[in-house]
Amino acid sequence: MPPAIGPEQALAELLDGNRRFVTGAPRHPNQDAGRRAAVAEQQHPFAVIVGCSDSRLAAEIIFDRGLGDLFVVRTAGHTTGPEVLGSVEYAVTVLGTPLVVVLGHDSCGAVQAAREAVATGTPPAGHLGAVVDAVVPSLRRAAADGVDDINGIVDIHIAQTVEALLDSSPVLAAEVVAGRCGVVGMSYRLAAGEVRQVAAAPAALGGVGPAAGVRG
Ligand SMILES: [Zn+2]
Repeated sequence: MPPAIGPEQALAELLDGNRRFVTGAPRHPNQDAGRRAAVAEQQHPFAVIVGCSDSRLAAEIIFDRGLGDLFVVRTAGHTTGPEVLGSVEYAVTVLGTPLVVVLGHDSCGAVQAAREAVATGTPPAGHLGAVVDAVVPSLRRAAADGVDDINGIVDIHIAQTVEALLDSSPVLAAEVVAGRCGVVGMSYRLAAGEVRQVAAAPAALGGVGPAAGVRG
């Protein structure tokens, strides 16, 4: 059976878990042998996390969850190539996962690297160039909006990633329109451990205003 919860409830579960983590009262749910046995045959995670690979952003820890709860896809700067899109579509359409979270964080190294590459006009060597290229549209939007502090740029990059997922995946967009799935952008603070919502589709899901939500 797919998770019998909708996007709002999935979001509430994640925020509850993050609150437990932030306050130093984690419950470490679903991490024992019983849970391991229960999910060995099949999985029905209630959220997909499209997060930055940063080592300090471990999804099950910061949302205080366990086995079978989160379907996690992480790349530096939460960039979204075809394999990422395919993984998200698999979770949403095959596993029935009702929520996709784009998870970025303050002081993101991928965003800083992109900024440096643009400022110096020196593209990074090797495949790191693909990461930088994926962040550059967010830098352009930040410049157009007059935002130049790194964490302001990070928030824009998170919102941009939410839009990129929906623009690049008609499959995901259709699930959102049908009300079966929601997409939320969250920014994590490395020192405090808390997440803050910066974008959502539909906009009402994240309780974020249209200005901070997804355009169009
Ligand atoms: Zn990062």
